[in-house]
This record gives sequence, C-alpha cells and structure tokens, in this order.
Amino acid sequence: SAPLLEVEGLARHWAVKGGTVRAVDGVSFALGRGETLALVGESGCGKSTTARLALRLIEPTAGRVRIDGTDITGLSGGAMRRMRRQAQIIFQDPYASLNPRLTVGEAIAEPLIVHGIGDAASRAARVRELLGLVGLAAWQAGRFPHEFSGGQRQRIGIARALAVQPALIICDEPVSALDVSIQAQVVNLLKDLQARLGLAYLFIAHDLAVVKHMADRVAVMYLGRIMEVADKRSLFANPRHPYTRALLSAIPQPDPRRRGMVKPLGGDVPSPLNPPPGCRFHTRCPHAEAICREVEPPDVEVAPGHRSACHFAAALPPVEALAGEGLS
Ligand code: SF4
Ligand code: MG
Repeated sequence: SAPLLEVEGLARHWAVKGGTVRAVDGVSFALGRGETLALVGESGCGKSTTARLALRLIEPTAGRVRIDGTDITGLSGGAMRRMRRQAQIIFQDPYASLNPRLTVGEAIAEPLIVHGIGDAASRAARVRELLGLVGLAAWQAGRFPHEFSGGQRQRIGIARALAVQPALIICDEPVSALDVSIQAQVVNLLKDLQARLGLAYLFIAHDLAVVKHMADRVAVMYLGRIMEVADKRSLFANPRHPYTRALLSAIPQPDPRRRGMVKPLGGDVPSPLNPPPGCRFHTRCPHAEAICREVEPPDVEVAPGHRSACHFAAALPPVEALAGEGLS
C-alpha cells in the first residue's frame, strides 16, 4: 500500500537581489503508518520549511506531496481540507500557536468546528476525552493558555492536533523550548499516544539525543538537502556521512574515551543564498577532496534502506576504527 506521507523532489526557492535562496532544495522521503521519521539538522537547514511544505502551509516551488497515495499538490478548497484531517502539526512554541483569547476547550474544539465534526455537546465531550488523553483534567477546559506551564501548553497543542483523529502528526521541535525534565514527559506522552492511536510522526529536531529516543528512522538535513537517511540503529552505530558524524560527535558522550572521536564542525553554516557548488557540505567537511567542490554527490545506498549523499560514503573508515569501538 502507499506510504502515509510521500515527499518527492520538494523545493522552496525564491529570487532575491544577488541570486536564489534555496531553503529546501530537492527533498524526498516516505513515511509509513505508525512510524516515526526524524528530520534533524542545525537551525536554518530547512527542516521546519520542509514540514510546512509537506502540509502546504507554504506552497512548494517544485515537487510532489502525496498523503495516503493522493497527490495534494494541486488540491484546493474542500478536497485539501479533507486531506488536512489526515495530517496535523504541533509547533515548538505552543503558546505562540494558541490564541490567548480562547479557552483551552475552545482551542481544542476549533479544528472540530472547522471540519464540521459533531454538535456542541459532542464536541464538549470530545474535548474532555482529549484532555484526559494528554494527561490534563477535564475541568481545565475553561482555563486560558497563560494559566498553564510550557509543558502543559504543549499537551494542549497535542490535544488540539489529535481532535480530528489524524494518522500523521508533524512535530516541529515540540520539546526544544521546554526544560530538560519536561522534555522527557512530552516525548513519553508522544510515544504513548503513538502506541495507543497508531500515529505516524514526522519529528523535527536539532537534538540527536531526543531523536535517539523517539525515532524509527532518521533523515539528516543540511542546507536544504537530505545528506543521510537510515534506520535509527544504523545511523547511530554506523553513520556514513561526514556531516552526520560531526553532529553525533557533538552529543555529550558518557565514555571519556569516545569524546573528541570525530572532529567537531568548524566554521558556520553557509547561507542558503547560492549554496556552495558540488557537495554543499564541502566548506566544512574534513574529508573534502577536489571532486567535492565541483560534482554534486549521488545518493548512495550503502546498506538496505541506508543512503548517504557523499562521494566517499562507502570508503569512509568505520566509526570503530576512529574510536577503537562502536557507538552504543
Ligand atoms: Fe565531504 Fe566530499 Fe562527502 Fe561532501 S562529498 S561530505 S565534501 S567527502
Ligand atoms: Mg525550525
């Protein structure tokens, strides 16, 4: 059967004085029902834009998005609204995405009204049920967003996203703004809801430690492109792209022998305005050769389901050789 979400050659470009900004520049991936695909990378790599393009909250310059096999790129009006029931989004800052003048109950009921679901009484019952599902009390429906903590507001954002029973939730850095102690609670809630409701997540993050806990598969983005994609185990144990290796080396390692195993990244992320030619990572890559500055690397399948866009993906020394042992 068709993947739940399939994105093909997705791009978002715009012309400015001096060239073209390539915020997202040819991104392809697929996500199955009940699966979590993490999209990771430094800020500005285009991951949030990819999330919005996938729901057509902003319009792509090029590429296709299919939800459950249906191409949504050309849909409008009621047809697009029906597809949106399948896929909802939660944001990094739930306070900014909640209307301060609506009670929490009104905010959660709003998508039901937009989609014409139920009458006032059944919507109120559904709001109580949703609050329970995210670990809040039914009586809290009458309170306003400012009366809640950051973690509780994210729970409210999740309840609102769940209201229309989507199959997919796009989570745009849902825990980045929260205290570390609260992050784990929200991540565990998302995992619990996935198990209970069969949800799929496209989980956007810059923090690989969170991704390690949350994802089934991981796609690593850099300057508008996917550099490497693999199931979580292969990606963490045997990263085949220098950029992924650099990101992994930035995770605090409990074992002192592993610290500094891979050289941390030097320099800044180049601008998406006229990104570097060839491999766009070449300006920071410790393995760059002449070919990298001129020829764009192909997407190499280094193992089943494990792809790396690097000229030397197959030739990179195993991480074990660098560390004396593998990553746990
Ligand atoms: Fe580094 Fe070259 Fe591979 Fe790009 S293609 S990641 S510059 S080695
Ligand atoms: Mg972002």
